[in-house]
Amino acid sequence: MCSPRVMATVQEAMSRRRFLGRVGAAGAAAALGTAPPGAAGSAQEAATPVANPMATPQALASPVATGGFSRVQDLSHVITPAFPVFPGFRSLQVTNQAAVEADGFYANDVAFAEHTGTHMDAPAHFVAGGATAERLPADRLVAPLVVIDIGERAAGDPDAQLTPDDVLAWEARYGPLPAGAFVAMHSGWETRLVEPARYFNADAAGALHFPGVHPDTATLLVGERDIVGLGVDTLSLDFGAATSFDTHLAVLGAGKYGLENVAGLAAVPPSGATIVVGGPKHEGASGGPTRAFALF
Ligand SMILES: [Zn+2]
Repeated sequence: MCSPRVMATVQEAMSRRRFLGRVGAAGAAAALGTAPPGAAGSAQEAATPVANPMATPQALASPVATGGFSRVQDLSHVITPAFPVFPGFRSLQVTNQAAVEADGFYANDVAFAEHTGTHMDAPAHFVAGGATAERLPADRLVAPLVVIDIGERAAGDPDAQLTPDDVLAWEARYGPLPAGAFVAMHSGWETRLVEPARYFNADAAGALHFPGVHPDTATLLVGERDIVGLGVDTLSLDFGAATSFDTHLAVLGAGKYGLENVAGLAAVPPSGATIVVGGPKHEGASGGPTRAFALF
């Protein structure tokens, strides 16, 4: 006999398996760059230019359009020493180790804080004993991608937050959040990366002002919906002016992961895309730079 908990787990696994089946083996191969030789065409199409020179989100026409999607959108920013990091963390440092001309090969030694660039927050980032990034099951890293746009509000109010009403409005238009969804807040903040001070948007007293996810929304998403993770196109899941980390605690405390500084969401449809999260895998990771893609 199975306990209700076991049954729930089995049902969840089955619904995810059905979802993953829809993504399709050919699509997965293309996403991971493992399409067989001969399958690749060379049709590449540049995406709409993005103002931020540190971002290279490009939508490419997939060489294999039979897997249920035809475009791959890069959701990760290029990390540079100038990329804004949350106060207290250090920026990327690159030390050259070898050059082709002198050594016959090129290699660097790289140092960065885990919470640099487009990166994952694993549950362990805020929860003692929580899962570290390398322990997250791989099937949590491929998920239906829900993009909720608050750009209009954020343009007029840097303290704008993704509210429960925003989630309900998305559902009224597109239907219930899919099981096992990854929900991303799109505020349009990445256009400010050309001028990092505007990305932090500190006031005279040093308080930051950028959009984030309201803690009530986090509670709704982990308590009454079935999500694998939550992403934002700003520095933090909690909005800049927050004095505590309530959204982090609600999301990571429920065993879900976060993605911060997500790029390229303007090109992704609100409903119907799939996210592939290439999360960090070093031992004991509280998080780390992440290469993520939207397939649609
Ligand atoms: Zn982080």
